[in-house]
Amino acid sequence: MALEQDDWKQKYKELAQECEALQRDTDSTASRGRALSSQLALGLRGQSAALDAELDLLLQMMRKPDINGQFDRVLGRVERQIKLLDDQRLSVSKDIRVGFERWINQLRSINQSEPFTNLLNASERRVPEAAEHFYKLAELLQELVELQKGLLPAQAENEHSFALSASDPNDVVDLEMLESRIATEMLNLIEALNIEASGLALARELIARIEKGIPAADLPDVMASLVKLARLSTGLEHQEFETYLLSLNEQLTYVQDFLSQSRQEESRAFEAHQQLDHKVRRDVSKLHQSVKSSNDLLSLKKAVAEQLTSIVRTMDRYKDHESEREGRMQQRYDALVERVEQMEVEAGRVRSRMEEERVKARTDPLTGLPNRAAYDDQLATELERWQRYNTPFSVAVVDLDRFKRINDEYGHLAGDKVLRLVARVLQRNLRGSDFIARYGGEEFVLLFPSTGKRDSLVAADKLREAVKASPFNFKGEPVMVTASFGVAEVQPDDDAETLFGRADCALYRAKEGGRDRVIGSE
Ligand code: GH3
Ligand code: MG
Ligand code: MG
Repeated sequence: MALEQDDWKQKYKELAQECEALQRDTDSTASRGRALSSQLALGLRGQSAALDAELDLLLQMMRKPDINGQFDRVLGRVERQIKLLDDQRLSVSKDIRVGFERWINQLRSINQSEPFTNLLNASERRVPEAAEHFYKLAELLQELVELQKGLLPAQAENEHSFALSASDPNDVVDLEMLESRIATEMLNLIEALNIEASGLALARELIARIEKGIPAADLPDVMASLVKLARLSTGLEHQEFETYLLSLNEQLTYVQDFLSQSRQEESRAFEAHQQLDHKVRRDVSKLHQSVKSSNDLLSLKKAVAEQLTSIVRTMDRYKDHESEREGRMQQRYDALVERVEQMEVEAGRVRSRMEEERVKARTDPLTGLPNRAAYDDQLATELERWQRYNTPFSVAVVDLDRFKRINDEYGHLAGDKVLRLVARVLQRNLRGSDFIARYGGEEFVLLFPSTGKRDSLVAADKLREAVKASPFNFKGEPVMVTASFGVAEVQPDDDAETLFGRADCALYRAKEGGRDRVIGSE
């Protein structure tokens, strides 16, 4: 267009000069000049109203016989109008350029990926040309609308992960990760429960469900199962555990709410994006329409500049909404992470309390040794190993000799002290793999894994010697404490009772035989 106008101006100047020369020289050339000036004036019409008025005056003058004097003045005014027109054209082109650049910059801030940036850069390079030539302008507009459209699907793809900011693809709220942290907590809790045989099936079922992932609708059911499981387990404070489960339920409800709100936000964002796209498309189609239908160059350019401003304004508003939405999401996500972390801390606390409870439930408070329940478990494990791998082991029952007398002579508290000391002596003289428990009263029970009768008798005798050699003193008086041992090696078809029974029989014989001795079962 600029070229066209430059051509016109140039032609106009040349012709005007020619006219003047002709005017001066001859009458015939004056009439030719008039004719040319008339044509020129007609050709320039339609650029602006002010110029049209001056051109009308010029045409009127052309028809008059004597135009000297007046002609120069009118010509000067026509030239001024053309200059004005040119200035306006430059300023509108500048508006168009600025509008495009702002639009491109906004698109750039929405998606900073390299391929997208490259495409935008290529479009940006064509802006100056498009601002001058309207046939190029339509092409560029179309191109940018297509690029803008390309931003759309990225946000609706994944239902679970939600892009907080489209400009940073790594910054993603990983809800699956949070859900799996919660599931892990639940599994840990089940593991920490000391579940009785009657609860095992329920525990297995619950673990399988949690591992599969818990849909929101199933949550109350899963919680009810957990509470039931807690009731079927032993050695923990149920009240505390149930309170904890209630709070866990609350946290999970929060996560579920977050999920559903995120999905709503996601669809709202999708709608907003679509609205933006529609609006920009509408503006662009208006532009196309203007380009096609307008024959007034200046008003056409003004329309383009206005439409571009409208597009930029629409995008500004969209961006504001977007960042507001992102801010809201980030806040809620932070709160969620905090809750999950809090939940993990609480779960850890409950777990360690439960572990403490369990240890307490299996420990003898007087001596600190494992108690009879712990012995039962350990014996069951040894028997299973024996049945499966044929690994032998032995049991020894230990009973302090004439302990009643110690109580009677020195008092019950002194008796307790002796029990604690004997426990320590026995423990200290055992191998690491051996097991000792206080069976009850002044009786202890020992398990010697992977040990036959002969070696067990040797080990037991060492212990007997150690007890006897221990310096027990009461109020400066040395007190002799001895113990009797009955030892039995596991036999095929043994169970906990038969094996213990044989060891107990051997102990009886040790007592009968004079105490302070070790007797092996036949
Ligand atoms: P024996 O050599 O035949 O085993 O004689 P004993 O006196 O050790 O046997 P008996 O079964 O007659 O007495 C066991 C005593 O152990 C009775 C009870 O007062 C005492 N005893 C059991 N448990 C405890 C305890 O926790 N603390 C104290 N101080 N004494 C206990
Ligand atoms: Mg006894
Ligand atoms: Mg005794």
